[in-house]
Amino acid sequence: MRPTIQLVGLPSDSNSSFERGPALAPAAIRSALWSDRGNLACENGMEVGQDFDLTDRGDLPLRETADDDALIRTAISETLGAGAVPLALGGDHAMTHPVVQAVHAKHGPLTILHFDAHPDLYADFAGNPRSHASPFARIMEGGLARRLVQVGIRTLNRHCREQAARFGVEIVPLADFTPASVPVLEGPLYISIDLDGIDPSEAPGVSHPEPGGLTVREVLAVLRRQSAPVVGADIVELNPRFDHNDRTAILAAKLVRELAALIARNGA
Ligand code: MN
Ligand code: MN
Repeated sequence: MRPTIQLVGLPSDSNSSFERGPALAPAAIRSALWSDRGNLACENGMEVGQDFDLTDRGDLPLRETADDDALIRTAISETLGAGAVPLALGGDHAMTHPVVQAVHAKHGPLTILHFDAHPDLYADFAGNPRSHASPFARIMEGGLARRLVQVGIRTLNRHCREQAARFGVEIVPLADFTPASVPVLEGPLYISIDLDGIDPSEAPGVSHPEPGGLTVREVLAVLRRQSAPVVGADIVELNPRFDHNDRTAILAAKLVRELAALIARNGA
């Protein structure tokens, strides 16, 4: 049976701390993904629909309440129960917590590879423990990950440095960065891509652009080196309001293809 990767749209930005807009992202990513502008080839030689199936659950009817987390957990559990690997399309980064909760419920403690300019480890942000600045604090407190490796971090303040030490988070230094700086991780592997981990010159359509980021080529090289089974993934924080000619949406669509091809290549 061919591997199946299922998109799950999570159009919510109610836990964003600064700008709204990521709720518009799933539609923008789908539009770029299925556009006749490009084809469905992936860099490892696989093709969407030929070597694996890429299905789409559509957008969840999120209502910007705390109930959204339960809705997300249920949908992700159903995707996993059907034998597909969920690839969640944010939305802001807050939803990585309920997505990881559901993946953990099936697979147990995860290894997480997290691309981001920000560590998202705040105990809470402006009083909101569900903030998009806090999902990895919730994940680590909940014992959902046995290992969290962060790549692209360039905004580490004292509080988050203390949180990282407390949780044993591994932050790959950006000084003298090469893709080989990132360890090849054991499974079950979960991959979370906050698009602001990539340099704003390549990914301008985000709420919190931070110069000095990763190149797309570096992100792809880090992904290609990973050989463990990938049991879930997300692409978050696209903000179409700030995009330039859809280039960040087009990038997000490419990352959908590349993540799906990695999931298919690495197998269960
Ligand atoms: Mn970020
Ligand atoms: Mn983030």
